[in-house]
Amino acid sequence: MVRTVDAEQERTLSMLEKWVNQNSGSLNIAGVTKVGEMLRTELEPLGFKVEWVDMSQTGRAGHIVARHKGNGRGKRLLLIGHLDTVFEPDSPFQQWERRGNEGVGPGSGDDKGGMAVIIAALRAMHDAGTLKNADIEVVLTGDEEDNGNPVELARRDLIAAGKRADIALDFEGLAQEGGKDLGSIARRSSGAWTLTVTARPGHSSGIFSPGVGNGAIYELARIIDTFRRELPEDKLTFNVGLLGGGATAKLDGGRIRLDATGKTNIIPAIAVARGDLRALSREQIERTKTKMQAIVAQPLAGATAKIEFDPDEYPPMAPTEGNRAILAKLNEVNRDMGLEPMGELDPAKRGAGDISFVAADVDGLIGLGPAADGEHAPGERVDIASIWRQAKRAAILMSRLSREKR
Ligand SMILES: [Zn+2]
Repeated sequence: MVRTVDAEQERTLSMLEKWVNQNSGSLNIAGVTKVGEMLRTELEPLGFKVEWVDMSQTGRAGHIVARHKGNGRGKRLLLIGHLDTVFEPDSPFQQWERRGNEGVGPGSGDDKGGMAVIIAALRAMHDAGTLKNADIEVVLTGDEEDNGNPVELARRDLIAAGKRADIALDFEGLAQEGGKDLGSIARRSSGAWTLTVTARPGHSSGIFSPGVGNGAIYELARIIDTFRRELPEDKLTFNVGLLGGGATAKLDGGRIRLDATGKTNIIPAIAVARGDLRALSREQIERTKTKMQAIVAQPLAGATAKIEFDPDEYPPMAPTEGNRAILAKLNEVNRDMGLEPMGELDPAKRGAGDISFVAADVDGLIGLGPAADGEHAPGERVDIASIWRQAKRAAILMSRLSREKR
């Protein structure tokens, strides 16, 4: 498998170059569809039954769901990647360019580089004969960078694949620190909340007096400062990203703009804030929400407050023992390849991702894609040597896991 990955370096790179040069911004329906076709062309000759799941109902292109039937006895693997990038057709960043050991281009790492690792690894397994009996499903979403709505429909097929699988492997970027490769076994959730405070308005000279109260802005300030003082715990963050209040305050439809009016001599009738919440487990999310509700439920005189939580954009992937055991197997592969063992990345240092949607149903490992720099910005570049290293690791790991009894 190591020899095949190396022998096919040129093939793999020209495949990646072609994918990168085809724009597939999440909203570019035709572009994402074309990249989906390119992946079909790679997967079908390896014996995968490839399905294109149309997602026009969510305002996005669709997903690739590809199944390789093995002998049904080994662990069933789910490989996760994505076809789309953050770079839409109006971005100035559109082309692949080779610069020494790096490949510069939109999606060169995130996640076309990750899909290149998947294909290179599967081809190595195919050549070595270890793919034949392996039960492997590949789900490549077309909207990872900008989810379609509703999210229940947008992630329906990924979640269903997670329920069929025993192990999920996420082919997004390899984490590195101080030049060392790291394994990643947890991702934090990502969710949002809206805090709305209403209060009795009045002449400002009466503020704090009985029967008048404190107004909406002091109450909102009390709540968010109490959050800051009382909620902090390990791996939990909550940011207030938008805030306003006055005689009137109205969020726009996208809830990214606030229109507020007020005067210095009017006790404000309304104050609104929007913020996020990132946590490592469902328990941590629920515990924090309960504390937030309790803080909100004790308003200052004259005010009424309520907090509403959006459905989680990404659920959490907690660092389970099952996930840790897969990293331990990867470290056996590292040992056999003569590579250093990989430690665990601090989940606070990584954003949310698609694998989180299956984390409740299946053990998983994150970051089997290549190492990249500057993701989500023009100039994104992939470390080409890491594509080969990751493809070899993945091919050997998948060959071993798919031989383990379910
Ligand atoms: Zn990505």
